[in-house]
Amino acid sequence: MPSRDVMPGGGETNLATITELTEQLPGVIFQLQRAPDGRMHFPYLAGSGTRLTGIDRRQLAKDARPALARLDDADYPRLMAAIERSARWMTPITTKFRLRLAGGRHSWIAVRAQPRRVDDAVLWHGMMLDISEQVAEEARLRRLSDTDDLTGLANRRKLIDRLDEEISLSNRHATPLSLMMLDLDHFKSINDTWGHLQGDQVLRDLGELCRDTLREEDLVARLGGEEFALLLPLTPIRHCQALAQRLCERIAAHDFGLGSGNVTVSIGIAEHRIGEARDTLIARADQSLYAAKNGGRNRVMNSNGA
Ligand code: GH3
Ligand code: MG
Ligand code: MG
Repeated sequence: MPSRDVMPGGGETNLATITELTEQLPGVIFQLQRAPDGRMHFPYLAGSGTRLTGIDRRQLAKDARPALARLDDADYPRLMAAIERSARWMTPITTKFRLRLAGGRHSWIAVRAQPRRVDDAVLWHGMMLDISEQVAEEARLRRLSDTDDLTGLANRRKLIDRLDEEISLSNRHATPLSLMMLDLDHFKSINDTWGHLQGDQVLRDLGELCRDTLREEDLVARLGGEEFALLLPLTPIRHCQALAQRLCERIAAHDFGLGSGNVTVSIGIAEHRIGEARDTLIARADQSLYAAKNGGRNRVMNSNGA
């Protein structure tokens, strides 16, 4: 009688049991082989997750391309580079990618795989797991941590992240980048006169007005209190000045429910100088804002005092 090993859980390790077990896994386990000419196929592929793709497994046993063709365009080069790196340095693949599903949807798949040389081919043993729910939850949490509760605008953290990205682009490509700092004038007396709730509504309406005045690619953030920052990529100071002026006038003319002319703002602007640190740029825009306040409020000042 053939010997039957007993697994720690008490089950038997015959082939039928293992097949049953792997097919029930809530993911995919696989072998992926890459020939010296770069062609890939899956010698082994099992798990309930394989049904997700709608691709015939027998086909993938000969040629991996039908699966690769389902990769999201943005992820294809990245995954290919990860495979290339793994094959060259014999390091594990640890990444995630999107797989296109029917109806324009996609799922996020995490993959872990260990390479091994087999003659002049590379063979990976690995697993894939659908992590779409986890990715969606992470995105939801990120949105929450990037958003100002009262206005729904970006918050300070988000502004700093975007500012760092845009500064690095501006440095690399010598493209213009402008920053506006905006602060409500005498907001304390607005609260005192009309109440805090009405004050909150002014902050919300102001956020909308800013968003409405700027382009989609500009970022409007509430830094806290009654202070806002507006980041304008690809915008030289001349254009920023004109936009700030328009915004300032629009706000002064707008009826926030308190009668027009009761809400005004002061705006300080500055253009990023190549190589300038983020905090220096912010400080220059802040100084302009301070100058606008000192100059009588309801006005725009730029960092050259113009
Ligand atoms: P200035 O023109 O010099 O900027 O005067 P100001 O009164 O706007 O400035 P100050 O810094 O003296 O007061 C800011 C006020 O903003 C005080 C505070 O009660 C109010 N404020 C800050 N955050 C909020 C908020 O979330 N909601 C409301 N309603 N008011 C707020
Ligand atoms: Mg103020
Ligand atoms: Mg203030």
